[in-house]
Amino acid sequence: MKTIGLLGGMSWESTVGYYRAINEGVKNTLGGLHSAKIALYSVDFEPIEKLQHVGDWGSTARILSEAAQSVESAGADFLLICTNTMHKVAPQIEKSISIPLLHIADATAEVLVHKGIKTVGLLGTAFTMEEDFYKGRLSENYGLNVLVPGKDDRRVVHNIIYQELCLGKIESNSKAEYLRIIDSLSNQGAEAVILGCTEIGMLVNQRDTKVRLLDTTAIHAEKAVENAI
Ligand code: GLU
Repeated sequence: MKTIGLLGGMSWESTVGYYRAINEGVKNTLGGLHSAKIALYSVDFEPIEKLQHVGDWGSTARILSEAAQSVESAGADFLLICTNTMHKVAPQIEKSISIPLLHIADATAEVLVHKGIKTVGLLGTAFTMEEDFYKGRLSENYGLNVLVPGKDDRRVVHNIIYQELCLGKIESNSKAEYLRIIDSLSNQGAEAVILGCTEIGMLVNQRDTKVRLLDTTAIHAEKAVENAI
């Protein structure tokens, strides 16, 4: 079994989900007392969030590249960045290490392509919903048509992530807002909706809606298990 490298803490609430899903995946596959071999570097999220919101992505790239090098030195065979948003600096991180990076958008797109889905809704931070590092990868590399909510709803989705989910707060009003926005993407033609932020699965899941959901934490964790075994 290979050692899975995790760059976590963004937020730690979602890294807990990765840790559980990866270990459950290994246990389900190998049985007995098997568990995953993991090298985890969990960052302090506060300074990273501050740098994101002032647009200093160069500094975030430096912090995460150093952390990724530590994960490699700790014996990881490949790396997962446990957040969709920070894949904005994935190219810099990838250049700083010699182990492969398992990109979250690729893992998600492979599931979409396998299911024959062409038009997909995307929820995530404003960075993920508005910039090209994620949407562009889905459309250019996999031919997917990506729909995002309108400006006001993007703000709602973004604020709930940073002001509630990353702090472990689960509010029923926020869940209702997310379900309303998911329905609206479906009405606009989305055949499925990507939960493109690793905390969203804490708020909504497939039991809450008929719209097909793709939880990036679960998909990324499953891909890691497949790669490790
Ligand atoms: N975990 C989130 C994501 O998947 C947001 C936190 C962050 O900014 O990294 O995008």
